[in-house]
Amino acid sequence: MTQFRNDAATAAGQPYDYQRRTLVEPDWTRFPGWRDVTAHQWESAQWQRVNCVKNIKQLRAVLGDLVDEAFYNDLDTDQQRLATMSMLLPPQMLNTMVPDKTPDTASFYADPIRRYMLPVATDRHLDWPSHPHATRDSLHEHDMWVAEGLTHRYPTKVLAELLSTCPQYCGHCTRMDLVGNSTPTVDKLKLTLKPVDRYDAHLAYLKAHPGVRDVVVSGGDVANVPWKQLEAYLMGLLSVPTVRDIRLATKALAGLPQHWLQGDVVEGLNRVAITAERRGVNLAVHTHVNHVNSLTPLVARAARMLLEVGVRDVRNQGVLMRGVNATTTDLLDLCFGLQGEAGILPYYFYMCDMIPNAEHWRVPVWYAQQLQHDMMGYLPGYATPRIVCDVPFVGKRWVHMLAEYDREHGISYWTKNYRTSIEASDAEALSKLYAYYDPIDTLPQSGQDWWRKQQVAA
Ligand code: SF4
Repeated sequence: MTQFRNDAATAAGQPYDYQRRTLVEPDWTRFPGWRDVTAHQWESAQWQRVNCVKNIKQLRAVLGDLVDEAFYNDLDTDQQRLATMSMLLPPQMLNTMVPDKTPDTASFYADPIRRYMLPVATDRHLDWPSHPHATRDSLHEHDMWVAEGLTHRYPTKVLAELLSTCPQYCGHCTRMDLVGNSTPTVDKLKLTLKPVDRYDAHLAYLKAHPGVRDVVVSGGDVANVPWKQLEAYLMGLLSVPTVRDIRLATKALAGLPQHWLQGDVVEGLNRVAITAERRGVNLAVHTHVNHVNSLTPLVARAARMLLEVGVRDVRNQGVLMRGVNATTTDLLDLCFGLQGEAGILPYYFYMCDMIPNAEHWRVPVWYAQQLQHDMMGYLPGYATPRIVCDVPFVGKRWVHMLAEYDREHGISYWTKNYRTSIEASDAEALSKLYAYYDPIDTLPQSGQDWWRKQQVAA
């Protein structure tokens, strides 16, 4: 299957040739719409937010006629019929597409960051745009809410969704059920409580459940929580003595690094980090970078600033996607950029979740196992990321941990060793097998025919 060619098998010599690549800020003046933008404007978080690209008209104002009309039509078709996320691109992020030359239609179509941040209809699979088992809330996070926005899935950890917006919207967002504006195809779930009431409910739950020691503070993206509110929430968490780990989730570190370099944010984070240190709590930031081209000097500056003010670690959780980063070379280039140039630990790559219209991004489990194999031995051991599959009703499993695998039909079976919050009284929960599904277009013909028959019978 040529789309899953193994880099390691095709070349003589070392399969991966490491070369240090220092980071470069792409020249934004190559875009007609930003010809006169100064460095001062570029580095302003406010300028970046005001000039985000939210629709085709605004994209046209930046790109002009660098890309032809067919591209805009393709994008429009996607937005009307297929997209699960609306368009939202900070200039910083758009500037990392075709970073080393003035884009044209072909290079813009081929760009890895464009492929997931600005998807077009012809990117998707027409035969199987969605897997039959794809769902809006594929990880059932909403089902496991114990308070609005608070998911209790693992015994000792919770996920706190503080808000439902981000400074950028990713086409493959796993929380497409809740995050972002509604699109013509997806009417989004809404948070209903006032933020202050939601946050109080989270704290009350944590105080009442001392067995929960680890809080992932997410959204959306915490960069969209007004700083004073976020600081109050974090100080609230730090006042609960049983909370020992706090992890802040923000893709904006790469999408809008200017946010994390603002004076009030830096000073506030320093206060939180000092309090965490005094109380012996591990405060970390988790970001979401999928391709080395997203790493620029500004991103590295923001990551190092977080470490300087006392955050214990900055880690990356990328998503494995076909056409974006699903080769050994792409993954290792990104990991070396993170680890060697930006001070960000390569931590996880998630397999793309089974949400609607995501089949063209997803890879089969066997291929993820192969990528994990081929990445071993190049990076320091502690900085070698694990590729994980987030199995519905189970949680994260390393890709080699499956119990059974039916390759013909693309169904892997997984086990688990704890109950989620909705299975407290389910005696079978720990002895069942839980299924995960490979993309159908990657199956042998007999497997594809089998799924087609299931569809007809359904
Ligand atoms: S930043 Fe995260 S939560 Fe926001 S759209 Fe992207 S993947 Fe979804």
